[in-house]
Amino acid sequence: TVGMVGVDTLGSVAAATSTSGLFLKKQGRVGDSALSGSGFYADSKVGAATATGLGEDLMKGCISYEIVRLMKQGHSAQLACEMAVNELEKELIERVGEAGDISVVAMSKNGEFGAASTIENFSFVVANEQTPPSVFLVKRDG
Ligand code: ASP
Repeated sequence: TVGMVGVDTLGSVAAATSTSGLFLKKQGRVGDSALSGSGFYADSKVGAATATGLGEDLMKGCISYEIVRLMKQGHSAQLACEMAVNELEKELIERVGEAGDISVVAMSKNGEFGAASTIENFSFVVANEQTPPSVFLVKRDG
């Protein structure tokens, strides 16, 4: 999945995803990427988030909505990403004994960004008017 979040010069926030879904998926499967709240979510009053990983797990947490909800409560994009990923991973392990890959990116309406992942070296790119596209790596647990 490729996920993108952005803020335009008028302050409108958007999120988008493009995916081929999971390898060897069942015919007719609809993953998280097409579902608002799971694969993506945007609220111009707050910010936006997108997710990639095992869709069946991401959908259980409505994780993109959860990140935006946490930002609305006042958490930074980075903290909201970490809180949502850690909470969903914990819940999945408690409920079903394991969690699939979960990776997220988010941006607040002010352009402040964050990311979190359960995989090692999840990479994402940030670009804005001042900075050319720059690659960031998410280390596990921070
Ligand atoms: N989240 C996608 C899905 O489950 C797969 C992916 O992110 O690579 O369909």
